[in-house]
Amino acid sequence: MGRRKRRKRPTTTRKLSMPKVYQCPRCGHETLSISFKKIPDNPFYKLAIVKCGTCKLYLELEVPEFYKTLDVYGKVVDLAVEGKLDEAGEPLSEDEE
Ligand SMILES: [Zn+2]
Repeated sequence: MGRRKRRKRPTTTRKLSMPKVYQCPRCGHETLSISFKKIPDNPFYKLAIVKCGTCKLYLELEVPEFYKTLDVYGKVVDLAVEGKLDEAGEPLSEDEE
């Protein structure tokens, strides 16, 4: 005798124009963005590019193809906890535009 619960609308088909941002493990601001780049000669991996707009953190991580931004973020947090953020990311170009 229960009414059907109204389901939340799935939002998966909608494209988000705004990139998701996460809290930066280094400076604590919610300005950490994660994007992906394809690796030409490696179909099973892709390059995750992690950038913080506040402290200019910049990381490039090779991650499996199926990784999502949240998975990458988990890795970034792990690196931060281990104190390896600076090892993993070398500042290539600080302000490219
Ligand atoms: Zn930061």
